[in-house]
Amino acid sequence: MDELNQDTIAKLNKTAKEAVKYAQAKYSHFKVGAALLADSGEIFPGTNVESSSYSLTLCAERVALVKALSEGTTRFKAISIFAEKLDFCPPCGACRQLLYDYAPDIDVYLTNGSEYKKYSLKELLPHAFDESQLKNI
Ligand SMILES: [Zn+2]
Repeated sequence: MDELNQDTIAKLNKTAKEAVKYAQAKYSHFKVGAALLADSGEIFPGTNVESSSYSLTLCAERVALVKALSEGTTRFKAISIFAEKLDFCPPCGACRQLLYDYAPDIDVYLTNGSEYKKYSLKELLPHAFDESQLKNI
């Protein structure tokens, strides 16, 4: 993955942080924002959306990804994640898997609003299950 310039990283992290204001987290009060950067340069923000049936809750990362995919955007460079009450909130396992299915080569930025940590998705989800395992069924 090509390195992003500092302005792009800053914009991506800022978008993730700003997305938090729309988080639907009335049960956990754990508000998360994400920002997914497409190859085109467009940024898709997302927030967590909770349900009273807790297992239906969607994380910010998956919301951002689904928004982009459902609007016809399928190629991505990076995602940034910001949590209001936690420094450097990592994506959960479900988000790692869905991101891997659609964007295995992206970088993942975890930001606290002023600093960030960068990982590759493959670093966060080693030995991933993917479509190659389905080809021999
Ligand atoms: Zn998640």
